[in-house]
Amino acid sequence: MQKYKQLKINKKKNIAIVAHDGKKEELFYWIGENLDKIKKHNLVGTGTTASVLKEKYNLNIKPFLSGPIGGDQMIGAEIAKNNIDILIFFWDPLTAQPHDPDVKALLRIAVLYDVVVAMSPSSANFVFNSHLIDEEYEKSTIDINDNLSSRIKKFK
Ligand code: PGA
Repeated sequence: MQKYKQLKINKKKNIAIVAHDGKKEELFYWIGENLDKIKKHNLVGTGTTASVLKEKYNLNIKPFLSGPIGGDQMIGAEIAKNNIDILIFFWDPLTAQPHDPDVKALLRIAVLYDVVVAMSPSSANFVFNSHLIDEEYEKSTIDINDNLSSRIKKFK
């Protein structure tokens, strides 16, 4: 059976930010309206989204590669290392994406590691107006060591 372990999320959250092209304006506007709430946390994002946010709002945010060339997967890798607490992902439900498998993979890995995901302005408002945003929080996450050792036992 899959084991879980407790993981502490600090007051200062690790946040990843991604927006598809059709949703970039909406995301930039939302961030502009919520700068005070956003800038107290550690920020990373996909290349274009993060770089524009950095320039536009002088945000301290680390850009990974652009989403379609591996940025989504880089964020997924950070999630698997328990380095992301919240994912703000404004994905576009009306436009086909060349990197659709990466988009699905990112959403899947976010749920697997119980990452908080905000996918629209309203969901982001609810997340960032929760009292938990400024508090420590304990979540249970998949025990990766136990998972690996039980799989090795099963196949050796
Ligand atoms: P971008 O990537 O920020 O580099 O545009 C976003 C995406 O995943 O499409």
